[in-house]
Order: sequence, then C-alpha cells, then structure tokens
Amino acid sequence: MVREITGGCCCGSVAFKLEDNFKKFFFCHCEQCRKLTGSAHASNLFTAPNNIQWLKGAEKTKRYEHPSRSFAKVFCTDCGSPLPFVSKSGKFLIVPAGSLNAEPSKVVDAQIFCAEQTQWHKAGIEAGKLPGFPV
Ligand SMILES: [Zn+2]
Ligand SMILES: [Zn+2]
Repeated sequence: MVREITGGCCCGSVAFKLEDNFKKFFFCHCEQCRKLTGSAHASNLFTAPNNIQWLKGAEKTKRYEHPSRSFAKVFCTDCGSPLPFVSKSGKFLIVPAGSLNAEPSKVVDAQIFCAEQTQWHKAGIEAGKLPGFPV
C-alpha cells in the first residue's frame, strides 16, 4: 500500500491528503514562480490529477489563472498559503512541496529555469547556517 501524506495551509483552514507517489520534483527559478511564491524558487511536485482528497476547507481555496500564459495557483483565502492544483493542461496535480506535513520520498529531479536564478539566491545558499534566529 502506498504511504499517504497530509498537507495544508499555514492557518489550518485547508487540509488535504494524497499518496506519496510523485512523478517529478522540480525547483523552478523563473520570475513567475518567484512572484507566485514570494521566494527564491518554486518547489513543485507533480503527481496524477486525481491523487488528492480534500479533508477540510476546499471552499476556502481560490484559483488564480494567468490571463495569457499557463501559470496558475491555488491558495487559502484566509492565509494565502499555496496549495495543490491541477495544471491547465489537466495532466498533473502540482503540489507545492512546502504545503506537505511530511517529507515526500521523491528526490528533486532538477532545478529548472536557472537562467533566471537571482544573484541573491546564488549568494544566499553559500551563507552561514544557523539552527534558528540569529542571537
Ligand atoms: Zn490558511
Ligand atoms: Zn517557474
């Protein structure tokens, strides 16, 4: 039996579960993914479109579609956390890895759109590592 992983948003309004059965895992450094996540890159897992069961709060989700390109995003209307969504093509469920409550067994396949990677990210991954807030 395939292991299940739960996930959800930061405020707890939305929760879901899915099977730990991912086909691909990419970090995407493109400008749109930076805007959509507010971070250095998106960390997206790809699985079958029907591999999700919403446990609560599905009515608290909203979908954004870019008007001309294939970008989309689903997020919690209370806290704004990104949540899984079916791609515009209908071929994949795209799962933001940070929305999961446990580590997926899939390892990252590749970092993509590295031509758009920011200098601050390149410098940041070399920065010192602290276990918590600086003291
Ligand atoms: Zn929320
Ligand atoms: Zn991207």
